[in-house]
Amino acid sequence: MTATTHDYIIVGAGTAGCVLAARLSEDPGTRVLLLEAGGASGPEAASLPDPLASFGLWGSSVDWAFSTTPQAGTDGAVHAWPRGKVLGGSSAINGMVHHRGHPASYDAWEAQGATGWNHRALLPFFRRSETAEGRDPEVRGTDGPMRVGIPAEPSALARAAFQAAVEAGHTPLKDGNGPESEGVSWRETNVVAGRRQNAFDAYLRPVLDRPNLRVATGACARRLVMDGTHCRGVEYAVDGGTHTALAERETVLAAGAIGSPHLLMLSGIGPADHLRELGVEVAAALPGVGGNLHDHVTSYVVYETADQPAPGGPGAEAQVLARSSAGAAPDLLLLFVAAELQPRWTGAGPGGHSILFSLMDPASRGTLRLRSADPAASPLLDPGYLTDDRDLERLAAGLRLARELGRTEPLASRGTAELRPGAAVSDADCRAYLRATASTYFHPVGTCRIGTDEHAVVDPSLRVRSTTGLRIADASVMPSVVSAPTNATVLAIAERAAHILTGTTS
Ligand SMILES: Cc1cc2nc3c(=O)[nH]c(=O)nc-3n(C[C@H](O)[C@H](O)[C@H](O)COP(=O)(O)OP(=O)(O)OC[C@H]3O[C@@H](n4cnc5c(N)ncnc54)[C@H](O)[C@@H]3O)c2cc1C
Repeated sequence: MTATTHDYIIVGAGTAGCVLAARLSEDPGTRVLLLEAGGASGPEAASLPDPLASFGLWGSSVDWAFSTTPQAGTDGAVHAWPRGKVLGGSSAINGMVHHRGHPASYDAWEAQGATGWNHRALLPFFRRSETAEGRDPEVRGTDGPMRVGIPAEPSALARAAFQAAVEAGHTPLKDGNGPESEGVSWRETNVVAGRRQNAFDAYLRPVLDRPNLRVATGACARRLVMDGTHCRGVEYAVDGGTHTALAERETVLAAGAIGSPHLLMLSGIGPADHLRELGVEVAAALPGVGGNLHDHVTSYVVYETADQPAPGGPGAEAQVLARSSAGAAPDLLLLFVAAELQPRWTGAGPGGHSILFSLMDPASRGTLRLRSADPAASPLLDPGYLTDDRDLERLAAGLRLARELGRTEPLASRGTAELRPGAAVSDADCRAYLRATASTYFHPVGTCRIGTDEHAVVDPSLRVRSTTGLRIADASVMPSVVSAPTNATVLAIAERAAHILTGTTS
């Protein structure tokens, strides 16, 4: 067994890992090792600017191809959970939407015990991550690595949808990532010059020649090297052998909402009884590891349409952030897709258009647990979709909002009829429809949440509680999912983590 020594070891070259490796290696005196289980690049399809094209990557070599346990709240369905396994991670296979959550989403983190993690504190890190030309520089980045694209020529459907939303009373916004994000806005993307730009392209590719940065692909971390409760480094498999890398400063997990808690548990850090049951020696009892697993949940209305979208053309371009009830924070996101969506992302036919509505602040919670102590075995993933009845009610409010938009003149005048669930369907049947169609919006989070209570996994400095030498910075640390797709938020979390690690304290 060989061992190498570095200052920092980062596990996972996904959205967060690429940010961390790029930022930490800015100091030429800091030696950084980045371990990625997947390969250096994926199939060409990973570059296609059509968000729906990412479905073609499911089950390919760049997808971990996880699936959930049968979900009682969605009629027992097992949901496919794609996750990127390649440089760039899930940002290499995602829908490329660049959207921050509403400020209330981040202020809710602090209210749950993540001291210092609120919207005001995160804003500089959102700005640092992006370049958004022509936007308000008070709130948007002007020289960050992730260049943000704005659709120049929205489709006819998108224009009608925007008008429909205004007519239905939603505030038209100049910038959905600007000072106010509740209302209707044009969707921003991570598409530059017609090509996908993932976190690897934005952050890491330009600095790969740094002599102090080593990126190892096909390198799957199997467990952490623990000395009591101190993490010394990582044991990983590569090229059929097992290697050990030691960190003189720290090991940082950026393996994502599934990979990070999985690796902790394989290393004996997690709920003690569960670990013992699986024959894993307990290094640090942390009951919250793998708890709080949750995800946005989504469904849709399908309409017949007379005009067909151009094949391969862009999907949704207008987006509406709204509230399910007057007292709530914005918790529903609606998108307009120029395709006839099929249940649970099983396809998207050309014969219609769909209004997708997603519950952005679900109350339902589930768990990630070990299936086996073998690092090669996928963990058991139970997000508890729609197990909290309040979620079904709020998703039903999303369906009502979508139909309201569908009935307004700009959309109704397109001569379209509601195909599913069907205008004549009763309220009870609508709820059955929601359970039959509800699905992932691809944003699982929360399994290593920031906080200070007994079930928190990392403290507000992102240190794994009850251990030393170990931090986490990725989607797993979010105490609750935000009211937007999660990639932009993960960029900001990782920017802040790098800031904390390089010596400043905020
Ligand atoms: C199909 C899909 C569509 C999406 N659409 C959007 C969208 O349009 N907009 C948006 O904002 N968000 C979207 N998301 C979500 C967003 O991409 C993720 O929230 C974000 O990429 C998560 O970043 P992360 O760094 O936490 O994890 P990831 O980017 O998943 O990175 C984790 C990395 O760690 C690696 N890894 C895991 N375990 C190990 C191990 N043991 N050893 C070594 N490496 C390991 C993985 O291979 C991966 O590269 C989508 C996600 C998917 C899957």
